[in-house]
Amino acid sequence: MKEHFNLTLKWSKMLCEDVRHLVFVREDGKPMPCIPGQFIQIHFSHEGEDQRRSYSIATVPGAPGPAEVDEVEIAVSYIEGGAATALLSGLQPGEALESSGPYGRFCLRDNETPKRYVLVATGTGVTPYRAMLPEIAHRMAEHGTRFFLIHGARRREEVLYGEEFAAFAHTHPGFEYQARISRQQPDDPQPWEHPGHVQDAFEALGLNPETDIIYLCGNPDMIDDAVTRLKQKGFTPRNMRREKYVSNR
Ligand SMILES: Cc1cc2nc3c(=O)[nH]c(=O)nc-3n(C[C@H](O)[C@H](O)[C@H](O)COP(=O)(O)OP(=O)(O)OC[C@H]3O[C@@H](n4cnc5c(N)ncnc54)[C@H](O)[C@@H]3O)c2cc1C
Repeated sequence: MKEHFNLTLKWSKMLCEDVRHLVFVREDGKPMPCIPGQFIQIHFSHEGEDQRRSYSIATVPGAPGPAEVDEVEIAVSYIEGGAATALLSGLQPGEALESSGPYGRFCLRDNETPKRYVLVATGTGVTPYRAMLPEIAHRMAEHGTRFFLIHGARRREEVLYGEEFAAFAHTHPGFEYQARISRQQPDDPQPWEHPGHVQDAFEALGLNPETDIIYLCGNPDMIDDAVTRLKQKGFTPRNMRREKYVSNR
């Protein structure tokens, strides 16, 4: 059920130069029900017009399945001249935002057990997968499902939550993690860091529409290009799900 509520900023930190991780609590003190992969909307007025922007919930719930989270975490990538960017980059602890949610169906579905999920993201598009980690652990333990997460960024600093995903991969052998770095290669690459774009990882994965389900989240150009390549391999909307980070104003 969609609810309207105010979110008060508790604390925040910069994940890199232009991405801010913000942690909110509901002003009414209630937890927020959500399914990992869903997003909230923030409501604000800009130059006399009502505006809404969407942000994926990054909170890692305490257990698999539908969650009730006490803190609503989001990661905001700053867009030059952006209206929500101006608001969210200046927000101070204790200040509140009008919000609603949760929205969206970019979630792991019940009643399906592919051999493998391939989770693909660029930029802040990786946040829904962070929220899915308990459910991912559950599906690996319960069904032996494998997961392959590929995150694209321009440089190492922009690989969001990289240490967390690498640590999760370390303790969960069914989970593989790759960061694809497109522009500025690190001198001392970690085992999970590779040069190139997320789509470059596809060939080596031996993708199979009979056994794999693919999730794509983030930059619309990446998603369009990936979808074109995946269609050539026989993927259809049945086994290929996408969330494009374009505003629905
Ligand atoms: C379902 C969904 C989930 C989303 N989740 C997230 C999330 O978790 N984190 C996050 O940071 N964003 C997310 N977004 C994008 C977010 O909703 C805003 O669109 C984004 O923050 C820009 O808003 P803004 O008001 O700052 O910029 P706007 O005022 O909307 O745009 C300013 C200018 O920048 C251009 N622009 C807008 N977006 C981009 C872009 N990505 N790259 C380049 N130019 C752009 C616009 O065309 C415009 O000219 C999501 C979008 C959707 C639809």
